[in-house]
Amino acid sequence: MTATVTEPRVRGYHLFDGGNGPHILVSAGSLVYAIPPEARELFEDAAEARDEAAASALLARFGLDVPVALDEVPGEVPLRSISLAIAQTCNLGCTYCYAEQGDFGGAAKLMSEQVAHATVDRLVDDAAAGERITIAFLGGEPLANRRVLRSATEHAAVRAAERGVRVGYSITTNGTLVRPDDAEFFARHGFAVTVSLDGVGAVHDRLRPARNGRPTYERVLRRLEPLLNDRRGTMNVSARVTVTPRNLSLPETLEEFISLGFDSVGFSPMLSSPTGADEMAGSDLNIMLEQMTACAERFEERVEKGIAYPFLNAVNALREIHRGTHRPYPCGAGAGYLGASADGELFACHRFVGDDERKMGDVLTGVDPARQLKWLDDRHVHRQQPCSDCWARYLCGGGCHHEVIGRGRPACDYIRGWLHHCLCMYARLTEKRPDYLDVIGPGR
Ligand code: SF4
Ligand code: SF4
Repeated sequence: MTATVTEPRVRGYHLFDGGNGPHILVSAGSLVYAIPPEARELFEDAAEARDEAAASALLARFGLDVPVALDEVPGEVPLRSISLAIAQTCNLGCTYCYAEQGDFGGAAKLMSEQVAHATVDRLVDDAAAGERITIAFLGGEPLANRRVLRSATEHAAVRAAERGVRVGYSITTNGTLVRPDDAEFFARHGFAVTVSLDGVGAVHDRLRPARNGRPTYERVLRRLEPLLNDRRGTMNVSARVTVTPRNLSLPETLEEFISLGFDSVGFSPMLSSPTGADEMAGSDLNIMLEQMTACAERFEERVEKGIAYPFLNAVNALREIHRGTHRPYPCGAGAGYLGASADGELFACHRFVGDDERKMGDVLTGVDPARQLKWLDDRHVHRQQPCSDCWARYLCGGGCHHEVIGRGRPACDYIRGWLHHCLCMYARLTEKRPDYLDVIGPGR
């Protein structure tokens, strides 16, 4: 996929072919339409000339001038999701870790039961009966503080039941400390368990060694057996692969992890690490896009045949396109989602723990509304350059805030290339397997 196919030309639309003829993504509303070849020529001419006036006129002429619904910065956003940095320490020494091997560049800390319960209470008390909240356990390595993790979960279950609030739990773990009774506990509470695995065997070991340099892959797989063998359907177990220049064989990794029994497998490029180690350069991102496209081709083949193939990036992208996702931010960070440090301070998300500029309050006194509003104002995709003129802005949301603040936007061609491929796949599947699209999520 060359960048020229996906580079922004006019801000209102993007043209693509889905195998069954020309299509257009209308940026406002993230709406996808099939268009006749003669219309494609007109839209192509306006885009090629970078003629915004002509592009807007064409959208109006074909009845595609959807109003933008997101000009305003949202007001106060209710808090519905918190991650707890329950253990700011880790037993691994991953080369690129955003948490600097778990302690966020400071002293190692474990969250106390008191802080964990206060964090849960903050979230539960803000929600009304019938609403859903989510609690994520992160670190460092959260299982380094198992006692408090379990106590906070049980406290949340009781408090949420009292108030009629629905609660979902998740954990992101390196997998090395998982015990059989953890599997029982996660299944009982319906956890979504994400395991960080960066490739198969030695590829993983080079990126995610133990502190003493020893390999970890075989140990993780042994520890995960009770989770991967649990087929009660009450918990979801995913593999998350952080992609660096040293683990770019994605189709092989995807096949292996699906065959091991993970419920989903997802890839994220390493764009910003504290030391710059293992960050992806533009040439690496080009290779990653080719590899992701190869994964997507395998995925599409399976979908057409009705075979489950849980490639998370493809499923998520298709779901968002099908739903017509239209968002002014990349994620809920600093809005409905915050990260709590082991000390009970609240930050824009788990990756900003310890960053005073992105502090949003604390669990005892709550969210500072002035800081939150300033964050939301500053980070809105319309305020971001070059995002405000990018056709992908309401599907992308402007890129992970943490990565953008740390390194800028080196991955735009990759993001647009991936979305372009998924748009083409979406157009094909709307003809071949519309039933599949309705299963992964409601259409607009
Ligand atoms: S970060 Fe996303 S929205 Fe912004 S320019 Fe890059 S691809 Fe477009
Ligand atoms: S800012 Fe980045 S790391 Fe934080 S929640 Fe958003 S996407 Fe995730």
